[in-house]
Amino acid sequence: MLTIRQRAGKQTETGLPWSIMAAHSFTDDELLTYLDEMLSVERMAAVEQALRGTDVLRRRLASLARRRDQGVHSVGEIWRRRRCSCPSRSQLGSYLLGTLDAKLVDYFDFHIQTIGCRYCSSNLHDLEQAMQATPEIQQRRRKFFQSSAGYLRKDDH
Ligand SMILES: [Zn+2]
Repeated sequence: MLTIRQRAGKQTETGLPWSIMAAHSFTDDELLTYLDEMLSVERMAAVEQALRGTDVLRRRLASLARRRDQGVHSVGEIWRRRRCSCPSRSQLGSYLLGTLDAKLVDYFDFHIQTIGCRYCSSNLHDLEQAMQATPEIQQRRRKFFQSSAGYLRKDDH
């Protein structure tokens, strides 16, 4: 496999240098999320790799950071910055498995479906994929989530 630096000089199928393609393969929103260190691990790595190879992307990121510091906030960004209201990954797991407290289910429904939190939606999608395993594995996972829920009902002996 070629390194970013080797590829940067090569032409892509569209005739544009690879470095230009890389600089435009991330949305502004994605780059802002990168600045907040909230992208998935794979995507964080992809941005970092592209940053090393392209001046264009570095300049774009710098200008986004500047604009943000000047207070030009998009709705998405304001939401990202208030992400403290997001459920944890293990809570999302319980949500999917239907082992969550009813009050929390209401809140999660609101948070994920009504507000449409992208962070949680992608987390949830991730978990769903992980759960599309054999029934045996699903059963094991269910037991794991139940036992790791952290509390036992008082009427259970
Ligand atoms: Zn969320």
